[in-house]
Amino acid sequence: MVLTELGSKIAGALHRMTESTVIDEEVVDQMVKEIGKALIESDVNVRLVFEIQKKIKKGVDFEALPPGVNKRKLVQNVVFDELCNMLDSGKEPYRPKKGRPNVFMFVGLQGSGKTTTCTKMAYYYQKKGWKAGLVCADTFRAGAFDQLRQNAAKVKVPFYGSYTETDPVQIAREGVEKFKSEKFEIIIVDTSGRHKQEKALFDEMQQVYDVLQPNEVIFVLDGAIGQAAKDQAIAFRATVDVGSVIVTKLDGHAKGGGALSAVAATQCPITFVGLGEHFDQFQQFEKMSFVRRLLGMGDLRGLAEVVKSHGLDKQPELMERLTQGLFSMRDMRDQMTNMMKMGSMASILEMFPGLSHSQLSDADGQEKFKVFLFIMDSMTDAELDHPDIRKIMNASRIARIAKGSGRSSREVGALMDVFKQFQKTFSRMKGRMPRNPQDMQKM
Ligand code: GDP
Repeated sequence: MVLTELGSKIAGALHRMTESTVIDEEVVDQMVKEIGKALIESDVNVRLVFEIQKKIKKGVDFEALPPGVNKRKLVQNVVFDELCNMLDSGKEPYRPKKGRPNVFMFVGLQGSGKTTTCTKMAYYYQKKGWKAGLVCADTFRAGAFDQLRQNAAKVKVPFYGSYTETDPVQIAREGVEKFKSEKFEIIIVDTSGRHKQEKALFDEMQQVYDVLQPNEVIFVLDGAIGQAAKDQAIAFRATVDVGSVIVTKLDGHAKGGGALSAVAATQCPITFVGLGEHFDQFQQFEKMSFVRRLLGMGDLRGLAEVVKSHGLDKQPELMERLTQGLFSMRDMRDQMTNMMKMGSMASILEMFPGLSHSQLSDADGQEKFKVFLFIMDSMTDAELDHPDIRKIMNASRIARIAKGSGRSSREVGALMDVFKQFQKTFSRMKGRMPRNPQDMQKM
């Protein structure tokens, strides 16, 4: 889960503020203090935290407010805006263009997650209908070839590499030429990573860069290093023309907030974040969506993407029922089963408002979903197909279902809460689902 701890601490501070009977300076000060503490614990630079605190306080100057303004909403909006600003690099990354080759060169230190991320990005675009290919130009690390080849096979993305060729420049050139001649649209070149930022790594990067003239150099950075990310990003950018950054391992790493804000401060746009070892644990990074998820506000745009990638939009009848909030428990069971196949429940759950900080939000979301599927297996057909199961649910039904599935009544209750959130969220998506893949890219 993306920075669960940071998110729930900030959301908690906001919640306590909104629960206060009177919203005055003292209450806001307390909230600002709590938010600052949470950010520092996430390794955000102290000076930056101080600035954010100052801006929040300035943004909620009660004395200057006209009467009748909703103070709670105002404070929430100011906090939301400042968190977005913290993650704003102020620069736009390269956007690949359909119907032509887009060459991406990946750079980064060994172990940062570069090879995994190359595969994730190829898979991401392939799922969206782009023709994607992977080139292994890492001749330094033994096993790099096999790793990328196996990854590529798992996600069924074409791969180019050589066991015998030792010149990375040669392989990169051949691979890119081959994919270009075959009209590939997304061509991803994985280059060597070393343990340190040694000169040989930078020299090699430079040579590959000169020959390839890629559309974009993507720097892959391990989010676990926190604000140290700043120095690394600067060092890489000084050697090759880094166009954007992907921050990996944001799942379960307390320092992720530090890494993201430090990268943004170097004016390198973050395009994607890595959220786990699975190839689909990868999300486009868009600051507002990210902050919405961080604070447990849900992310309808992200959910629309998930719906699309699961092919739900190709089932108009189901989409109609989903967006009318009329879908049954059986529909939810089918969708959960589908989503489980993708193996990234935690990041999907984050997109539902109200679920991201619930009991479901831990990293083993997959396990929780299995429990829900057990529970649903103990429901009768009438319950599964009822247009609104919550209307017929009562204590004796809950007790029967709990007994049948070997789970507790509390867990059955939790499933009912999730069902309610599914209903609410999908009905809010009404009219937001794109009609065709082209529109999806614009969302
Ligand atoms: P490279 O040396 O930079 O190419 O790194 P690899 O792609 O081999 O990844 C190093 C390790 O990090 C592997 O065990 C990956 O599974 C793991 N990894 C990569 N990205 C993520 C991520 O987003 N989250 C987590 N938890 N692990 C990741």
